[in-house]
Amino acid sequence: MFEDSYKQRGLRQKLVRKLTEKGIKDERVLSAINRVPRHVFFENALLEHAYQDKAFPIGEGQTISQPYTVAFQTEKLEIKPGDKVLEIGTGSGYQACILLEMGAKVYTIEYNRKLYELTRSFLPQLGYKPYFFYGDGSKGLPAKAPFDKIIVTAGAPVVPAALTDQLAEGGILIIPVGNREKQVMLRIRKLNGELVKEEFDNFAFVPLLGEEGWRK
Ligand code: SAM
Repeated sequence: MFEDSYKQRGLRQKLVRKLTEKGIKDERVLSAINRVPRHVFFENALLEHAYQDKAFPIGEGQTISQPYTVAFQTEKLEIKPGDKVLEIGTGSGYQACILLEMGAKVYTIEYNRKLYELTRSFLPQLGYKPYFFYGDGSKGLPAKAPFDKIIVTAGAPVVPAALTDQLAEGGILIIPVGNREKQVMLRIRKLNGELVKEEFDNFAFVPLLGEEGWRK
């Protein structure tokens, strides 16, 4: 149903090499990126952009994250098969596909109704089946907590307490925190009930909206 040609597979391998050059080491992350057909998230006229290492508009003023950003956040999550993962900001669903390819059980929440509807109907057509939720992910997903891993794919003004509360013991939260234009990537581990924080590079995400995010 969706064409995955020799050319597209070749472009994907080239993208994987580029991510390796940029410092992504986890073979399981790289192999997931090599398997998920990113071009199917693009309209025909925009196909040439699918395997460039850049973010791209997906409508509703939102973006499919840059492959490097997806790889970076995924690597930092140390995903193990069977991990129960909460993703905040479903967007196109590409990040969710990468997590599913790595054997995670994925719960994904989106605040934009139209994107939620679109992705919920599109992803299963590709064979990817996370659990989809509509709502304000800045409050997490208390009904399904705790989670082994939580990934926030929008820029937050602060680390929402709801998210660290919903993290399992030994769990990892990866979240970009800063202002509306620029955020620093934070990794927070819950170890013996304590939160241990590490800081990484700067990134530029669209804003996390909602109660614990930015007000529109
Ligand atoms: N993970 C996505 C992907 O793979 O395409 C990219 C996500 S995009 C950079 C950020 C997404 O976060 C947008 O779709 C936006 O609507 C969503 N978002 C913003 N605030 C949110 C909130 N409070 N709860 C859930 N989703 C939110």
